[in-house]
Amino acid sequence: MTEIAITRTTNPKQPPADETLTFGTVFSDHMFMMEYHEGQGWHDPRIVPYAPFVMDPATCVLHYGQAIFDGLKAFRGPDGQIRLFRPGDHSRRLNRSAHYLCIPELDPVMVEESIRALVEVDQNWVPKMPGTSLYIRPTVIATETFLGVHPSHSYLYYVIVGPVGAYYKEGMNPVRILVSDQYVRAVKGGLGAAKTAGNYAASLFGAEEAQKAGYTQVLWLDGVEHKYLDEVGTMNIMLKIGDEVITPPLNGAILAGITRDSVLTLLRSWGLRVSERPVSIDEVTAAASAGNLEMWGTGTAAVISPVGELGYKGERYVINGGQTGALTQKLYDTIVGIQYGTAPDPFGWTRLLGNRLGG
Ligand SMILES: *Cc1c(COP(=O)(O)O)cnc(C)c1O
Repeated sequence: MTEIAITRTTNPKQPPADETLTFGTVFSDHMFMMEYHEGQGWHDPRIVPYAPFVMDPATCVLHYGQAIFDGLKAFRGPDGQIRLFRPGDHSRRLNRSAHYLCIPELDPVMVEESIRALVEVDQNWVPKMPGTSLYIRPTVIATETFLGVHPSHSYLYYVIVGPVGAYYKEGMNPVRILVSDQYVRAVKGGLGAAKTAGNYAASLFGAEEAQKAGYTQVLWLDGVEHKYLDEVGTMNIMLKIGDEVITPPLNGAILAGITRDSVLTLLRSWGLRVSERPVSIDEVTAAASAGNLEMWGTGTAAVISPVGELGYKGERYVINGGQTGALTQKLYDTIVGIQYGTAPDPFGWTRLLGNRLGG
């Protein structure tokens, strides 16, 4: 593998106090960069001081959104060790997103190595307080200077990292979700399965309407019939009706969440009945009315986010008495335990920093 050149900052910053951390506002001293040019492939992998980019106003990513990213975390356990959570899976997903956006293939081994190397250089930025972590954002943007619609001939892959606060400072808090029967996030045949900028632009209007109506997020229904559940906000959605745990299948319109996969793997290992199948909003509201429903979102930021209430066609459906369900809580506790190294890791999901051979 190409050696990663490292240029350290001569002007290191003081990381903020762990208690003050929020999400996505503070970044570390360094970043990883690597360019692609046609004929040359990906070249010049390097870690350099964190700094702004200078861009031509005609750079194509600014106009047509040929951009992808991923999001993962590093955790400092009570044992002082730093663990990356499923970095290989996140790296492979970045490469799949690249494929959907006509971006040249990124070797997942190189991506994982870039992440590991950057976290190692900036390891003093991994916070210590329980619940805090280092958020890692690998990104690819199209950098050709032209105003025409075709895949760019040059790209920049970069990684930035920043410490983030505990998502649940006062225990898990079930959220109120508005089921959107008007707006959709993605459709089958579109880019829903890619982590690409445009999907988030597409979600803003619906999310803002939901917030104006007093809800935290939107439950997106499928883009064709507006009948089947797709995702919730920027998380995958799961529910338990009776003894069956259900999540929508990876049909091309939803993102293949790594947390989704972690939860499904755990549930199956616990012997629960798990179905990846279409689930209609009518089935969900019926189960909520019957008091027979537990519901939660899954994603890297929150791990698990319990849903306490749905708003749909002017009706309110309270779920599990507005309380966090027992299975929801158990999933959260188990995954967080694995991430911080306080629970066994039977599936080999964490990679210890400094362990170059780990998965
Ligand atoms: C990132 C993301 C998720 C969650 O994926 P994780 O790998 O679990 O973090 C789900 N849905 C969308 C739309 C996302 O962008």
